Amino acid sequence: MTGLSDSFQRPISYLRISVTDRCNLRCVYCMPAEGVDSIPHSEILSYEEIFEIVQAAAELGITKVRLTGGEPLVRGGLPVLIRMIAGIKSIEDIALTTNGILLSRFAAELKAAGLKRVNVSLDTLNPDKFIAVTRSSGTMDQVLAGIARAKEAGLDPVKINMVVMKGINDNEIVDFARKTVNEEWNVRYIELMPFTGNAEIDSRFMSVNEIKRVLEPLGELVPATMSAGNGPAKYFQLPGARGTIGFITPVTEHFCFNCNRLRLTSDGKLRPCLLSENEIDLKQPVRSGISHDGLKKLIVQAVESKPKQHRLAEGQANQTGRRRPMSHVGG
Ligand code: SAM
Repeated sequence: MTGLSDSFQRPISYLRISVTDRCNLRCVYCMPAEGVDSIPHSEILSYEEIFEIVQAAAELGITKVRLTGGEPLVRGGLPVLIRMIAGIKSIEDIALTTNGILLSRFAAELKAAGLKRVNVSLDTLNPDKFIAVTRSSGTMDQVLAGIARAKEAGLDPVKINMVVMKGINDNEIVDFARKTVNEEWNVRYIELMPFTGNAEIDSRFMSVNEIKRVLEPLGELVPATMSAGNGPAKYFQLPGARGTIGFITPVTEHFCFNCNRLRLTSDGKLRPCLLSENEIDLKQPVRSGISHDGLKKLIVQAVESKPKQHRLAEGQANQTGRRRPMSHVGG
């Protein structure tokens, strides 16, 4: 196996796969109120097609896979895909990003299939606000039950992702931080990326520096390391905490210089950067029976086209009216 690296000498070892564009929530920062057009089922990669691509990517040097969406758990048989990927020798780590609504039902099965860890998106600890933010009939209790089941099943670590929005959930920053002390939660505060096209939501941005100021009364944040995952978050602990606090700064401090990832969209496009519309189609070649080596060449081509950095802070995402929604690309 050779290592894979892009034109800026960044090692590329991480593939994020959107297994579906469908979602059972309609979070205000992710989708417009009217929802987004669904990709026809026939255009969505089958598990066999995903497996073929992961196998080729693994031979090139991908060692870590994350399944995301849309909501990955709304796609039937996800443990089957996990088992297939876990069977690839050089894949060392399989993770899942989920909204947690269906997690309690599947946690044990996912773990048994080979899933190692899970990130759960949860933006509020208030049941009514949960309904308002997710614009859905799913409940916060379902998510909390999912988190508990994931821990019981041995998925480790379980990380909780909170997208912070001024005037919506910034008054809960401290409550989430207390959970790292009282319940060993691993909480990550994420800066809102302004690209819903919904000015009301896009204007609610709060920087990590502002979030840190809100946390100051809780005591000094001591740098910490996370047992798994070397992603863009910077980790800390509060005095007496067993859980961790992470900060993710896609807007105020991009982490492109360290970016080791590729994304595979649910309709089979390999996307070297979340925030660039540049994509290489793998679905048609795979469906036309491309050779294994041909597929590997396309993956290398995508890696070589990975841009140096995005320009989110300069409003890049807002300038492109044709941006694909997060649910298509995989957040
Ligand atoms: N349905 C799954 C979930 O909710 O975790 C996976 C897909 S979701 C698009 C993945 C992540 O993207 C979530 O943690 C979500 O909070 C984040 N996300 C979506 N839109 C965002 C935005 N505008 N700014 C920051 N994070 C965002």
